[in-house]
Amino acid sequence: MPVQRGAGRTPPVLDVRQVTKVYGEGDASVQALRGISITVERGDHVAIMGASGSGKSTLMNILGCLDVPSGGSYLIDGTDVGALDDRQQAILRNRKIGFVFQSFNLIPRMTALANVELPLAYGGVGAGDRRRRALAALDQVGLSDRVHHEPNELSGGQQQRVAVARALVTAPSLLLADEPTGNLDTKSTADVLAILDRLSDAGRTIVVITHEDDVATHAKRIIRLVDGMVVEDHRQAPVDGPPPRLASQVVRDR
Ligand code: ADP
Ligand code: MG
Repeated sequence: MPVQRGAGRTPPVLDVRQVTKVYGEGDASVQALRGISITVERGDHVAIMGASGSGKSTLMNILGCLDVPSGGSYLIDGTDVGALDDRQQAILRNRKIGFVFQSFNLIPRMTALANVELPLAYGGVGAGDRRRRALAALDQVGLSDRVHHEPNELSGGQQQRVAVARALVTAPSLLLADEPTGNLDTKSTADVLAILDRLSDAGRTIVVITHEDDVATHAKRIIRLVDGMVVEDHRQAPVDGPPPRLASQVVRDR
């Protein structure tokens, strides 16, 4: 699907304009973001990289509408988030963004199925539809045989796949992941990255925050932060093509 550009066409999924973030006041203040401007088109798969303290989590929290910038503006699907009240922001977050966290953040003593149904329940989707969509999302991450298991009965890799299913189930505009493989072993990391590759290939828009080069090699584009500024924005694969790892597999298979 070609990406539309220009006036009157689909706006970018993310449009971040000169965003700054200052924590604290006076001598104790920390300038965590120093004027970040990024646009992300539909279908892109972006890795945001940077050393510890470079502002990655601060940026993730702002992109995910979990925190507000000190300056600048931020649009998601053309909607200026700063112009929304708290309730409108919560609705936007539920409809537009799917989160994947380093520590999975599943609800204990709730089955995988119930965990994945949760964002649909918040969104007011009826029980039958909720179940059908949650089962389809769990199937997409290869966990159809684990839907009635609770988090403590699943491996770390399986828990993170449930978290990916939960992030996907609302069909969000943006999948936002903060160090999604940071707590996983090599095999589970490969499983989760393969799922992200497939989602990217299916046209999903993905932003992954990571400090691991291995994770970034799966992205179509790499953005590097140093001290709260973008110092590099490098494209590895076209927005409207497959992600680099899948593209190279096609070449190898020929
Ligand atoms: P990263 O995720 O890349 O490690 P962070 O976004 O967590 O970076 O932090 C960026 C800078 O902001 C760091 O200097 C950090 O110490 C500071 N910082 C982050 N959160 C807070 C906070 N709640 N209060 C004060 N300073 C913070
Ligand atoms: Mg961080």
